[in-house]
This record gives sequence, C-alpha cells and structure tokens, in this order.
Amino acid sequence: MTRYIRFALEPGVPVTAPDAHPSVRRGLLEEDGRIRMPDGATAALNQVKLLPCVSPSKIVCVGRNYADHAKELGNQVPTEPILFFKPPSSLTAHGAAIVHPALSELVSFEGEVGVVIGARCRHVKAANAESVIAGYTVVNDITARDIQKRDGQWTRGKGFDTFCPVGPWWTPKEEVDFASFRVKTRVNGELKQDAPVTDMLFPVAAILEYVTAVMTLEPGDLIATGTPPGVGPLAVNDTVAVEVTGLGTLENTVAAQR
Ligand code: MG
Repeated sequence: MTRYIRFALEPGVPVTAPDAHPSVRRGLLEEDGRIRMPDGATAALNQVKLLPCVSPSKIVCVGRNYADHAKELGNQVPTEPILFFKPPSSLTAHGAAIVHPALSELVSFEGEVGVVIGARCRHVKAANAESVIAGYTVVNDITARDIQKRDGQWTRGKGFDTFCPVGPWWTPKEEVDFASFRVKTRVNGELKQDAPVTDMLFPVAAILEYVTAVMTLEPGDLIATGTPPGVGPLAVNDTVAVEVTGLGTLENTVAAQR
C-alpha cells in the first residue's frame, strides 16, 4: 500500500509548517520503514519529524453524519449535511500531543475517515465525485464539547491548536476498498467506537456535491466525514488511537496546556 507522508528534516520545525518551509519534505513510507523522497534520497522514520500528511487550504467537516452519533448527543438526525470548518492551524501529526485547553472541561475524541482532494473543483456532481478524490486518511476531530454547546456554533469548540490530528499517511483511493472501512477508536487500548463507513447518512459523493455547490476545493484539501457513535472524554495522559481498517492507525496522547 502506498503511504504518502510529510515530514521535516529538523526537529524544531512547527507541526503546522507549510510545504514552502525549507525543511519540509514529502515522501513515501516504504514497507521496510524507510522514507523515500521524490529525488531518490532516503531517510529513517526515526530521524525525521512527522508532520500532518496533508497541508490543506481548508478542512471541511461534516457534523452528525452517523444517525446513532446524532442521537447519542441528543440531536436530531439531519436531513442534509451539516458543514463546519476546522482551521489549518488545528492540524497536528501522528504521535504529536493533543493539548487539552485550560478553557475546556470536556474534550472529546471523534474518529473519522478523511478524504484527500486531488483536483481543484467546483460544482462537482455526485456521479463524478470519484474523479476529484486523491485518497483517504484518518482524522480525529477533537472537540471541546462544553464550549461547542455553550457557543451554539462550533468555531471555538472545534478550532483549538492540535485539535485535528491527521495521518499518519494518506493512501490513493485505487489501493483501498472504501466500502470495507470501519472506524475504530480506542482510548488507552479500550474500544470506544466501531462502525462501518456504510453507516454514513450522507456518502462521500453526496458530501462533495454539497460542499462544491458552495466553494472551490483545492488539491490537498481535507474533508472529515463525521464520526460514528461512542464519542467520549479525553483526559491528560490518555492515548487515543483512531484506526480505519485497511488504511492505518492515528495515535496521539493528550497533554496539559502549559
Ligand atoms: Mg466530527
């Protein structure tokens, strides 16, 4: 399976550094654990700093896209997709800390499948949606649930720095069987979420039609497709692992704000 990663050659590079940063590289993570760069150079994974596998202009998220998740939080099952943004400044990498903000008393995980956009597009019809998808990745839509509820809209609750772990890699759509994906989230090894993506209320093609009726998507943009039931709190020092079966596992540990 092809695994596209982004990384920095120096440890001090910020996790949100753009592709234009002189130390940021893209490469393939080979089966033997070596990283191969486009110029043929190689590096060991433990000698680089892993970055978010995509560098999107925007992160478009779908809320309440699994009926049983809408119900578990006491919400109506939506009749059309609920869209919101997470800012690119919320991205963080596999293995990096999720910082628990001092402003929140209820930080929750949300394991999700991420869609990586492959072509600039607008007004995409669902029937053609496959043509604008590059591949898939794993996303954890971290949420300060108390702030989300208090504000009535989701910008602060979903937008803290480190609230969008993504990766560790993305894989081309041709190499995976999307319909077979299950989202499984574990906290400290205990299974919390386990659902097939076929339970989504709005499939990816319908989401892409809905989003691009409004806005242009760019290559590398990220769509978070919503979380299944089983969401719950994260405490400082917890380890949260989101697995999309057949794709990969994204793991992060929660750290206190300093
Ligand atoms: Mg979500």
